[in-house]
Amino acid sequence: MDNQTIMQFFEWYLPSPCPLWKQVKSDARKLKNVGITALWLPPAYKGAGGENDTGYGVYDLYDLGEFDQKGSVATKYGTKLEYIAAIHALHNNGIKAYADIVLNHKFGADETEEVLASQESFTNRNNSVEITNNIVPILAWTKYNFPGRGNKYSDFKWNWTHFHGVDWDDREKTNSIFKFYGKRWDEDVDKENGNFDYLMGADIDLNNIDVVHELISWGKWYTSTTDIDGYRLDAVKHIRSSFYLNWLKAMRDNSQKPLFAVGEYWNTNVGILKKYLEETEWSMYLFDAPLHYNFYDASISGGDYDMSKILDNTLVKEEPMKAVTFVDNHDTEPGQSLFSWVQDWFKPLAYAIILLREQGIPCVFYGDYYGIPQEKISPKSEILDKLLLLRKDKAYGTQHDYFDAKNIVGWTREGDSNHEGSGIAVLLSDFEQGQKQMYVGKQFAGHTFIDSLGNRYEKVVIDEEGNGTFFVNGGSVSVWVEE
Ligand code: CA
Repeated sequence: MDNQTIMQFFEWYLPSPCPLWKQVKSDARKLKNVGITALWLPPAYKGAGGENDTGYGVYDLYDLGEFDQKGSVATKYGTKLEYIAAIHALHNNGIKAYADIVLNHKFGADETEEVLASQESFTNRNNSVEITNNIVPILAWTKYNFPGRGNKYSDFKWNWTHFHGVDWDDREKTNSIFKFYGKRWDEDVDKENGNFDYLMGADIDLNNIDVVHELISWGKWYTSTTDIDGYRLDAVKHIRSSFYLNWLKAMRDNSQKPLFAVGEYWNTNVGILKKYLEETEWSMYLFDAPLHYNFYDASISGGDYDMSKILDNTLVKEEPMKAVTFVDNHDTEPGQSLFSWVQDWFKPLAYAIILLREQGIPCVFYGDYYGIPQEKISPKSEILDKLLLLRKDKAYGTQHDYFDAKNIVGWTREGDSNHEGSGIAVLLSDFEQGQKQMYVGKQFAGHTFIDSLGNRYEKVVIDEEGNGTFFVNGGSVSVWVEE
């Protein structure tokens, strides 16, 4: 089987609007040729900000750029027809398409309504019984009637009973956390801030059976309408774990496809990620946020990072079958909420780790590949294409690890019979230049290896035991392949 590689096909600062769906169509063949097997596309439904909305401020899940709502027919990325054409173009090139699923919150209600609510602190939320004198009538933006769409596809209209709470009282113009009277935050969510059910906007009550039925019925409509192959699930740590367990079951029961799923559980504690995997019965992968932070720490340590620990406490090490690895994403970009941008010099090292090792499914970030003009970050497609092709053609077979030193670490892959010419030796250094003897396989005895990245010019001849002594520059990576 060939290696799988996902690309996250957007970054935060794409211009509004931008013809992203058309770009998917025009770039599909090129991406296929370098080994991309799936694209994660951004949220495709109308957000409160219309054409200026990245898609995470969901207004109407049924409006994929079809109805005149929030100031335009199209979403930031194009129209429904363009979205579906993009997915077809991917399929024609043998690339899968994953949809971004945002079911934690909604924004941009059509009307307010009066609701009784108790005010809570942002940093200490709890489920204590309401204290009567703390209950106030607020004006909440919770009525969603979708006048631009009417009843097409669904006649479900949202009101406050479908939400847990909001962060805005339109009567007093107050920003706080307002939990609706009689509601409780879900318990099986992340414990940050006491209880992290509430993230933003109008928090959807995923205990409300009408809501659960509507979101399952929407998911079936969405999946069959778009012919999507899987999901990237947004903000899962703010959603009771049983919700996606059941939702994914319903989607998979209904579909003829296996339906891939990866959840965004943003937490650096691998134990908490493992607990969530268990609670959701391993029905999804999770993004390896701990690995991202190891990369970030190494990249800002100026050569002082202990590279032997770069994989420690990561999901790819502890649950390799359920890890989607990545270097950066739209939230870690400069100026974003989870800013932790891996420094330029370390990017080739980090990408070598996610792309050339056996464990995890890697996800390449659009902002790294195409650059981020607004932040003056230049594209790294040249080095990424080289690493992607190495992943596609060479990174196969038994892996031998040499994470045995503070500065210079590496691994080899022995290659396999299904991929002619496969087999690699990878060496990284976050500080000094140097060398390391590594075993690449007896089948290579007497063969010559060269650095396919062109950073080193030695010719390494593999000895009778299958070992070679490989080289790397300081703060660099070399990937040795058979000449
Ligand atoms: Ca929530």
